[in-house]
Amino acid sequence: MLGVNRTTVVNAYRELAAEGLIVGHVGRGTIVAGAAGDGAGTGEPRGIPWGQLFTEATDVMNDPLLRDTMLVSARADVISLATGIPSPELYPIDAIRALLDEALHTAGQELLQHCPTEGYPPLRAALADWMAGNGPPPEPDQVLVVAGSQQGLYLLARALLEPGDLVAVESPTYLGAIQVFRAAGARLLPIPVDADGMRVGLLEDLIARRRPKLIYTLPTFQNPTGATMSLERRHRLLALAAREQVPVVEDDPYGALRYDGRPIPPLRALDSHGSVIYLSTLSKVLFPGFRIGWIAGPRPLIERLALMKQIVDLDTNPLAQWAVWAFLDRGLLAEHVERLRQAYPRRRDAMLAAIERHCAGMLTCERPDGGLYVWGRLADGLRARDLLPEAARRGVAIAPGSSFHPDGEGENTLRLNFTLPREEEIDLAIARLGEAIAALRGS
Ligand code: PMP
Repeated sequence: MLGVNRTTVVNAYRELAAEGLIVGHVGRGTIVAGAAGDGAGTGEPRGIPWGQLFTEATDVMNDPLLRDTMLVSARADVISLATGIPSPELYPIDAIRALLDEALHTAGQELLQHCPTEGYPPLRAALADWMAGNGPPPEPDQVLVVAGSQQGLYLLARALLEPGDLVAVESPTYLGAIQVFRAAGARLLPIPVDADGMRVGLLEDLIARRRPKLIYTLPTFQNPTGATMSLERRHRLLALAAREQVPVVEDDPYGALRYDGRPIPPLRALDSHGSVIYLSTLSKVLFPGFRIGWIAGPRPLIERLALMKQIVDLDTNPLAQWAVWAFLDRGLLAEHVERLRQAYPRRRDAMLAAIERHCAGMLTCERPDGGLYVWGRLADGLRARDLLPEAARRGVAIAPGSSFHPDGEGENTLRLNFTLPREEEIDLAIARLGEAIAALRGS
């Protein structure tokens, strides 16, 4: 492809997909869509040209590889290792049912109205208290309750980024953050991750020249690699951020899910310059369906984000906020996390043992100390995007690693979740994956 770079091709592809001119199908690649039926030549109205109306910001959602992954995951005959969902059979449904019942009995009229945009005040205090478990807690008015930390990321991007701004991100990193930053018109500065987290030395070399507006990091049990940033790198990153006056967004959904090794304090607990904006969520330690997350940071930022949130959704579901408050206040979340910390390492180890059994020589994985994911590398130049249809055909879904790389690298990598499948399904899922890799290698 002389003179045409990959980005141009990808952008052209996206344009065609946005116009509905091409459609991607698992295992069939990309095809040209059928005739538009737009009434051309019939004198009939042509209808609304939707493809031409969408803003550029909406274009980032149109990753065909991801859409294919999600379609496969949703199939009833598929064991999905592609999501980041905690084990549904461990959801504390009886306790939640009792709390919702109590909430409606005791405060139904209040909880079915609006509540303050910043969050239900007792929940803000309880979340600050929860954070006291690993470092000095913020004051309750430094906590903003959001509808999942995805909304937190969105609000941060809207409040802090202008089109063209640069955001330093780990590579690979959380896909939802890549999408949020891109939708805000930001450009990404990828900093590679190794077993000790973000390679902070590389950021030190670049920062003065490139001047990122934000540094986004997942220091603990990173999504997707499972890597945890060493204490030494945490200190170096904070010193760099303070010296260069660049805020650090610490995204920490997984920190409480440690199975091995000694805890390392979050960046926010080590920060003495007020550089860190901390984000977390109940989605991984409880369940995602309540859509409750939070941001803790400096007051001026929290106030500005609350104004932004008012525009987006006025407030976060008060009934769910009450239930989460009561769950925290009665010590039930601490007990629940303890149960997860018993159950999840068994599933992780079952997955790693199954990989040894069924994928030896074809897939190499690290053993994460916590979180929800095993990160793998395929042998022999195999590409995860080609594995996706092979695996789908055999009834297993994986998340291709290139989707998590801002620059599309990492074609031989993939992410496997060990919490959504039941323990007894893990061996079967990995056996299917092994067959799929072997088929791909033989083809
Ligand atoms: N950040 C990271 C790193 C995540 O992995 C996720 C969920 N996959 C989120 C944020 C968003 O979580 P939620 O909106 O459900 O709180």
